Amino acid sequence: MAAEALTVRPTWALVAHGGAGAIARGDLRPEQDAAYRQAMAAAAQAGAAVLRSGGAAMDAVEAAIRLLEDDPLFNAGRGAAFTAEGRNELDASIMEGATLAAGAVAGVTTTRHPISAARAVIEGSAHVMLGGEGADAFARSQGLEQVDPAYFFTERRWRALERGLSKLGLPIPPRPLGAPEDPSARAALVHEEGKHGTVGVVALGVHGHVAAGTSTGGASAKRWGRVGDSPIIGAGTYASDKACAVSCTGAGEYFIRLGVAHEICALVQHKGLSLQAAADQVIQGDLAALGGDGGVIAVAPDGQMAWSFNTSGMYRARIADGQSLVVGVYKDET
Ligand code: ASP
Repeated sequence: MAAEALTVRPTWALVAHGGAGAIARGDLRPEQDAAYRQAMAAAAQAGAAVLRSGGAAMDAVEAAIRLLEDDPLFNAGRGAAFTAEGRNELDASIMEGATLAAGAVAGVTTTRHPISAARAVIEGSAHVMLGGEGADAFARSQGLEQVDPAYFFTERRWRALERGLSKLGLPIPPRPLGAPEDPSARAALVHEEGKHGTVGVVALGVHGHVAAGTSTGGASAKRWGRVGDSPIIGAGTYASDKACAVSCTGAGEYFIRLGVAHEICALVQHKGLSLQAAADQVIQGDLAALGGDGGVIAVAPDGQMAWSFNTSGMYRARIADGQSLVVGVYKDET
């Protein structure tokens, strides 16, 4: 009976990540560990609630990512990493497996929820990717909430920038105007997982369609309008009902060159690999061989779920119809 139950395909499924990086046991204080687990669980449950009530995979992805963007613990939305100039420039993308509809924004600075701006690109423009001031202006025109750039500020990410710039021998920019002097208690729980961090969600809805989304502040101390893999369709995000939905986190320069998200889908579609085997081949094989670090989450239309990362940890959660929530942080967890 138990074995039979396990082979039943879930009608809906969702996997979420909150970034991969230097996240080893002992790095996090117990209260940080608990806060990250609770935040990943809350995001997964928010997406699951959409799917359970018959909502679309795109809606579940957007709802879960908006929560993570609002949480200062993660390098996305509020809590984003800073550029070398001391700004928060946010990237996001979202894709629907049924239609291959895709939207992305890069370098937004005033849009509270970059993932919703990415989605609005699909529904409100003839384009796939918008960048910089134009992307914020578009988001504003679509009625998306705009905030003062200081909204994204957190003290810990600022300290990480100062450390990073000192190592590079670059000047420390002035604190952003309006940056709060006293960090909130929650922002003080931020774990600095290295230069990176990102959030992403993949989902399968009851109608059999998959979707993927990714949102990030990018690499700390990034320069010259640098854009990572997260807003690039095929690199940081990809979804196709013919294969799977994938969201990535890690050193974007490597993910772009390998076209990681699309590559995993291609291995599933054209080589018939299982989702886990395809994710492992690209992350443990190709990415590691190129010298990159990071991880992925994925879901397939038949209900397979996978994650793979070659870092010491990745904040992650998965949940599916008939399966209980699983939350992980370190490498030695399921
Ligand atoms: N992939 C993101 C970027 O390179 C950062 C991360 O996921 O850690 O911008």
